[in-house]
Amino acid sequence: VWGRVKNVCKQNGLLILSVLAVVIGCLLGFFLRGKQLSEQEVKYFQFPGELLMRMLKMLILPLVVSSLMSGLAALDAKCSSRLGIMTISYYLWTTFVAVVVGIVMVYIIHPGGAAQKEDSEDSKKPMTSSADALLDLIRNMFPANLVQATFQQVKLIPKPTVAQLLDETTTRRVYIYGIQDDNGSDVQNFSLDLTPPPDVIMKTSPGTSEGMNVLGIVIFSATMGIMLGRMGPNGSALVNFCQSLNEAVLKIVAIVIWYFPFGIVFLVAGKILEMDDPSAMGKKLGFYAITVVMGLVLHGLFILPAMYFFITKKSPIVYIRGILQALLISLATSSSSATLPITFKCLLENNHIDRRIIRFVLPVGATINMDGTALYEAVAAIFIAQVNNYELDFGQIITISITATAASIGAAGIPQAGLVTMVIVLTSVGLPTDDITLIIAVDWALDRFRTMVNVMGDALATGIMAHICRKDFMETAILATCEPTVN
Ligand code: ASP
Repeated sequence: VWGRVKNVCKQNGLLILSVLAVVIGCLLGFFLRGKQLSEQEVKYFQFPGELLMRMLKMLILPLVVSSLMSGLAALDAKCSSRLGIMTISYYLWTTFVAVVVGIVMVYIIHPGGAAQKEDSEDSKKPMTSSADALLDLIRNMFPANLVQATFQQVKLIPKPTVAQLLDETTTRRVYIYGIQDDNGSDVQNFSLDLTPPPDVIMKTSPGTSEGMNVLGIVIFSATMGIMLGRMGPNGSALVNFCQSLNEAVLKIVAIVIWYFPFGIVFLVAGKILEMDDPSAMGKKLGFYAITVVMGLVLHGLFILPAMYFFITKKSPIVYIRGILQALLISLATSSSSATLPITFKCLLENNHIDRRIIRFVLPVGATINMDGTALYEAVAAIFIAQVNNYELDFGQIITISITATAASIGAAGIPQAGLVTMVIVLTSVGLPTDDITLIIAVDWALDRFRTMVNVMGDALATGIMAHICRKDFMETAILATCEPTVN
């Protein structure tokens, strides 16, 4: 028995360390909460965790660009268009299913309280349309300036009125987003304009303002990859460059991965130190959180694995075991983009997926496929309607499902991005955007679970695509070697 335990530990050492790190982080966080650390001390304490986030973020851009360019260039035209169509259709389908799951859950549990008709003055008036927000989403697909897209295509800045509400001790928290475009002008439909009670503070990770326009970069890199593939030998210099870059990034991931357990302890404990007192959470908010979590569990642990099983006839449990490390990282970082390098490594080395499929399906998924986010957006919007005694008709529910899908596509893979794009959903059915503040208190926690489902969805989709396209790949090219290249 001892020998077997030793063997398991040897094979899964890093995974075991990461699980331990989450547990230690939780214990340490709750222990230190009682010690009343100052703002400054908490900041120092969070430093190792911050470093982990920075290391992961550093790898996103080279990984996305090199994966898509070299991945698509390696496929012939027939293969890439089939893979492209199948992948996008599958992503849209699962996102839509997630939204439906969310809507069904929120109607069954009814976390916003029993609907009772009240005087019409209480029901909120319809507000602006979300057309502008959707146009913004499409605009982001085509960044006018590629270099700028890699750092700050959209700036999230605290509104001056809001800044006044904060004293020095809460400067790392901003109440609300004002979003500016490239030219510094306000993108009105994204700014949540309200005068909030000072005790409600929107907790936003400082990382949010570092958002790059990944969607624009994905569209550009994918197009470049397809064109390079069509150029044949003329494109090979750039393709080779991207392949080398891709390999090198994975080698860096192999080093960074050893820092994980240490970073995770501080990331998790640091978050616990920051969180609000859970006992202050109202009953409705508690039910709302339960609704979201139950929906996520249903979608992430049953529906998605079932789809994987029906399509591939392989065990989803074995497959999910291979990506456990990535799921833990998504739980700790709340960012599917930051998790991308690890998901990549897990699929390549543990699940032995063809690297050409991973290079395309995974970065696209991390950018546009966010089942967890879509589910949460639908639940949150209907919860806000319920709290306001605002009865939604069937047309409005359809609108919510479409806009929640769009909002999840538009959300960047960074912490609490879904909270911002929720404005699209709320405005589409005339719900008050300022009511986003109702759900802020629990959002940081829900964000972790929905990010896990987002990552799970991308990883399972990659396995499904590898299964569906295996014949094409064998016919058109020698199957790419799947042996681990990173040790
Ligand atoms: N944090 C999520 C992710 O990175 C996005 C969100 O729903 O806020 O996938």
